[in-house]
Amino acid sequence: MSVRTIRVVFMEAAHADPQDPGTLPEGVAGLRAQLLALALDVTDRDRVTALRELADLTNTISAVQARLISDLDASQRAADDVADIPEDRRRGVVGRVASALRESPRNAQIAIGVAKALVTEMPHTFAALTQGTLTWYRARLLVSETACLSLPDRRTVDRQVCGDPAGLEGVGSRKLAARARKAGYELDPVSAVRRAAKAEADRYVSLRPAPDCMTWLTVLLPVAQGVACYAALKAAAASGVATGDGRGIGQLMADTLVTRVTGQATADAVPVGLHLVMSATALMSGDCEPGRIVGHGPVPAALARRLVTTAPAVASWVKRLYEAPAGLVATESRSRCFPEGLAELITIRDDTCATPWCDAPIRHIDHITPWADDGPTALTSGQGLCAQCNLEKQDRLVQPQVVDDLDGPNRGQPRAPAQAQIRCAPAA
Ligand SMILES: [Zn+2]
Repeated sequence: MSVRTIRVVFMEAAHADPQDPGTLPEGVAGLRAQLLALALDVTDRDRVTALRELADLTNTISAVQARLISDLDASQRAADDVADIPEDRRRGVVGRVASALRESPRNAQIAIGVAKALVTEMPHTFAALTQGTLTWYRARLLVSETACLSLPDRRTVDRQVCGDPAGLEGVGSRKLAARARKAGYELDPVSAVRRAAKAEADRYVSLRPAPDCMTWLTVLLPVAQGVACYAALKAAAASGVATGDGRGIGQLMADTLVTRVTGQATADAVPVGLHLVMSATALMSGDCEPGRIVGHGPVPAALARRLVTTAPAVASWVKRLYEAPAGLVATESRSRCFPEGLAELITIRDDTCATPWCDAPIRHIDHITPWADDGPTALTSGQGLCAQCNLEKQDRLVQPQVVDDLDGPNRGQPRAPAQAQIRCAPAA
């Protein structure tokens, strides 16, 4: 069976009789098995052809997923209507979609929004995705670029940009998004201004781990302010180069950013507060077991030791937390709220939200068994959750359940007990 044949069969399976719930999952599983059974020992010509077919197939699969997500959402809304559940008490399908896609609730929420827009409001874009000529990423860009338009205007842009699939060939993602944006500006200049105002309100700064113990500090700014910041850093770096500083333009711009934001004289003299989790043997005996900086991730043992030993020299403080090989330090409180120290220990232990697939930072410490059900306030019975997951969990506890068997596994469940084996040491 050729890859093209698989794609055709897959599309037919996607439109299988909805009255037979066993057909679609079984058909998809069968197609996957057939794909994995294909002989890969072929000519280079066939390899290239198969790559294109697989790329198209991936897009088709995204379209089928979008259709399933959209239908699931509509079906659940209809069930909520029948059960007469008020709008603010509805559970939605975020948890189920997140669990099925192995994604965070935040990403699932985005996928649901994009799927509904594609299936119900953008038929040409959806058709291009189904035919394989448009990727999920590019379809998502078009949904995003038309999000502020009225439904009739969105449909017009959809037709103008994706009405002719041949017109999508060879068009880069940036150019494609620009086409949709330009068409939207022409149809509704007012919404463009409204969108800009909303985007400005959403400005933020974020920090993400980068390879080799580096980190990405990202700032989303209005365009004029962003350009001004970049120009200022570049000018400062240029004057450094002119005085024979010895550092490159990129290094000078980065160092200038650090010194100006922190007010320190030099970039590497910045006082830092770090939670460093490492084994005692890695600290004392030169063991190679990597340490972990909370909020960043693993760091090589040697770097962790250097952070500890050089901390006073760079006016830093490093709170060292030793992982215990066995035995758990139990901490308990009679209070309903987790005391500051216990909350900090749980945050350090869990690092990110305890919901499966969710990587979001911890914002709340939650009783795994609710306080109202005699859940204790203790290290082993607390978990860190992001704001959205905590809200969802609270909603689940008070809402009536419409369909039981669709829940994803382990929603809101604590992590493996092994990760709770941490002992605190005095700060350096
Ligand atoms: Zn979460």
